[in-house]
Amino acid sequence: MSKKIMILPGDGIGPEIVTQAQRVLDAVNEKFSLNLSFVEELIGGASIDKHGEPLTDAAVENARSCDAILLGAVGGPKWDTIDRAIRPERGLLKIRSQLGLYANLRPALLYPQLVEASSLKPEVVSGLDILIVRELTGGIYFGEPRGIRTLDNGEREGFNTYKYSESEIERIGRTAFEMARKRGKKVCSVDKANVLEATILWREVMDRLAPEYPDVELSHMYVDNAAMQLVRAPKQFDVMVTGNMFGDILSDAAAMLTGSIGMLPSASLNQSGQGMYEPCHGSAPDIAGQGIANPLATILSASMMLRYSLGMNEAADAIEKAVGKVLDQGLRTADIATGGTTKVSTSAMGDAVLAAL
Ligand code: NAD
Repeated sequence: MSKKIMILPGDGIGPEIVTQAQRVLDAVNEKFSLNLSFVEELIGGASIDKHGEPLTDAAVENARSCDAILLGAVGGPKWDTIDRAIRPERGLLKIRSQLGLYANLRPALLYPQLVEASSLKPEVVSGLDILIVRELTGGIYFGEPRGIRTLDNGEREGFNTYKYSESEIERIGRTAFEMARKRGKKVCSVDKANVLEATILWREVMDRLAPEYPDVELSHMYVDNAAMQLVRAPKQFDVMVTGNMFGDILSDAAAMLTGSIGMLPSASLNQSGQGMYEPCHGSAPDIAGQGIANPLATILSASMMLRYSLGMNEAADAIEKAVGKVLDQGLRTADIATGGTTKVSTSAMGDAVLAAL
C-alpha cells in the first residue's frame, strides 16, 4: 500500500537540508520498493510571504491525510518583527496541536566518530545514548490565559499559564515508560516540584504509573539539577521525560553533547502513530544559502520517520548505517569538522550518504 509523506521545507537552511533528505528518501524508495509518494506544502515565513499566515488550514487538512510529515525548520530575521500571532513559529505550534502531536522524541546519540566534536571530554560522553521525551502540546507554551497587559499603574506585565492535566501527564508518561522498555529500562522524570504546583501533580502521576512498568526504574530530578547532571555525567540517563518548556531547553543542551545540533533528529507522534519528523535545530539564518549546513539531522529524521510511523525498519537501518559509513570516511560539514577530517558542503554530504546507500 502506498504511503503519503508531506514535505515541509520551511525557511533558512530548511529547503537546503530537506532537499538532501528527499534525495535519500527517493533512493530508499526505489531500492526497497517502499511505494512512498510525496506532497509539498509551505510553512513558516515561506507561507507568510505567499498566504499571509504561517500555515494555511488547507495545508493542515492535507497533512491529516498523510502518513507522516518531514519538516526542515521555520523562522528568520525577516519575520521577527511581524505580528506575534502570525510569526513563523505559530505554524509549527498549529500543526503540532491540530494533529495532536503530543510526544516529542529527541534522541541524543553520540556517534563514536564524533567524540572529538563534543563540548565535553571523551571519557564523559563516549557511548552517550539518551532519549529525551518532551511533552509537546501542553504546558506553558499553550496555557491560557496568556498575554501582555497594562496594569492599573500603567506598567505593562507579561504573563503565561503553566498547566498540565492528569491525562496529559499520563499519556506522555506512558510513552516514556514504553520507550524505556525498548532501551535501558530507566526513566528520569524532570520537574520543578519544589516550586511549581503543576509539576507536583506531574510527579504524582508519574509515581502512580510506575507500578504498571515494574521492569522500568523511575527516578525524579529537579530541572536545575538535570541541567547540571547533563553536562557533568550525562551517561547516567537513559530516558528523560519532561514538560514542554523544560524539554525544549534540556534537549538543546543534550544536543551539544553529541557534537552538533546539526546531527540530531526528532519525532513528534500522536496517539495513532502519525508523526512529524524534523531536525532539533532551527533555520540557522546565519548560514542559510551558503551550502554549508549539516543535512544529517534531517536525513536521520527521515530514517526515524520510516521506523516509527511507517514500520519500514530495513530502510531506516540502511540510512543510519550509511550515515555511520560517511562519518567513518572522515567526511564532515563545518559544524562537526575537527582536525584530520575532510570538510564537505551540504550537497556533498548528501552525495556521500547516497553513495554509501
Ligand atoms: P538555530 O538552531 O537555527 O541555530 C543555532 C546555531 O546552530 C547557529 O549558529 C546555526 O548556524 C547552527 N546550526 C543550526 N543548525 C545547523 C545545521 N544543520 N548545520 C550547521 N549548523 C547549524 O537556532 P537559532 O539561531 O536560535 O534560531 C534561528 C531561527 O530558527 C529563529 O527564527 C528561530 O525561531 C527558529 N527556530 C526554529 C525551530 C524549528 O523550526 N523547529 C527551532 C528552533 C529555532
